[in-house]
Amino acid sequence: MTAIKRIAILTSGGDAPGMNAAIRSVVLAAHHFHIDVVSFYHGYNGLIHADNINHAKLLTLNDVNNIIHRGGTILKSARCPEMLTENGLKQAAKTLTLENIDALIVIGGDGSFNGLLALKEHWHGQLIGVPGTIDNDLDGTDFTIGFATAVNTAIEAIDKIRDTADAFERIFIVELMGRHSGHITFNVGIACGAEQVLSFENFSVDDKQVKLKQLADEIKSAQENRHGSYIIVIAENLWPGGAIELAKELKVAASMDCTACVLGHIQRGGSPVPKDRLLATKMGVAAVQAIIEGKNNIMIAEQNSAICHITLEQAVEHHKVVSQQLVDAQENILALTAQNQY
Ligand code: ATP
Repeated sequence: MTAIKRIAILTSGGDAPGMNAAIRSVVLAAHHFHIDVVSFYHGYNGLIHADNINHAKLLTLNDVNNIIHRGGTILKSARCPEMLTENGLKQAAKTLTLENIDALIVIGGDGSFNGLLALKEHWHGQLIGVPGTIDNDLDGTDFTIGFATAVNTAIEAIDKIRDTADAFERIFIVELMGRHSGHITFNVGIACGAEQVLSFENFSVDDKQVKLKQLADEIKSAQENRHGSYIIVIAENLWPGGAIELAKELKVAASMDCTACVLGHIQRGGSPVPKDRLLATKMGVAAVQAIIEGKNNIMIAEQNSAICHITLEQAVEHHKVVSQQLVDAQENILALTAQNQY
């Protein structure tokens, strides 16, 4: 096993609260083992345009002081279409070779890990992924860094919406992030006691008209039987036109005013909750340890509260599905509510 001297680190794809905590943890662990950490900025752009000012920098302990509680990422994040080209990959590999990098740590989601797999063909250093995405859709890890905070942020927002919705007995449709999976939507919907949870796991756009009628009937029935608010949480990219269009269509179908609220990027921001700070810290240390042990092409994961590794190929092969128990729990709550009308 050759001695590791220089690790590179970057954050890529959608930013997630806790990315800073992971960067800090990598730098602290590397410092302990006398390893330098070189940072690249704006995702993979930092590797491809490393000649530009600000794109490669040695991270000191001072740089990561007091960042564990900060959202966003001190390394900035970005999408980088050039990584999808042969030239872009070659340029990224060239930078890593010129900088004498032994291993690259990328904190990001499945797209970012596909970037690592593509880079594997052009560069022979160690490649390590740390799952940082609010979507929680990476297979092989129970949780990704940022998910717990995004869920918490959305819950706090919907609890506030509930207060005002209750006061005026309004119907609200709240759109949540999650790209193409309902991890955020189901967790938030259930935790907020939303009357309806609409996501990829329990709705297909082919059934749109049936669903519209069903929703209209259920809202009318709920309003006849009890007074109060009615909240539908819906995953982004699900209903054509999103929450705003669903609100318009329901207004016609149910002859009732519905207010759409798209939570959007609020869910990405804010100080990471303790769970994300801890996960990020454990994963950052594990990434450095894995590099020292000579591991390559792996994603750091957490399964049943224990840190482990899985291959990058496994991590990106499938999107992690929402637990069926969660989907069933929502169905059961809905059925009980309809029966009892409380
Ligand atoms: P999130 O899902 O949280 O937004 P992500 O990492 O999945 O995070 P993406 O936008 O899908 O975000 O990917 C981030 C970047 O990874 C892309 O902009 C691109 O630079 C790189 N990337 C994605 N897919 C590939 C690929 N197939 N080959 C090379 N690079 C890729």
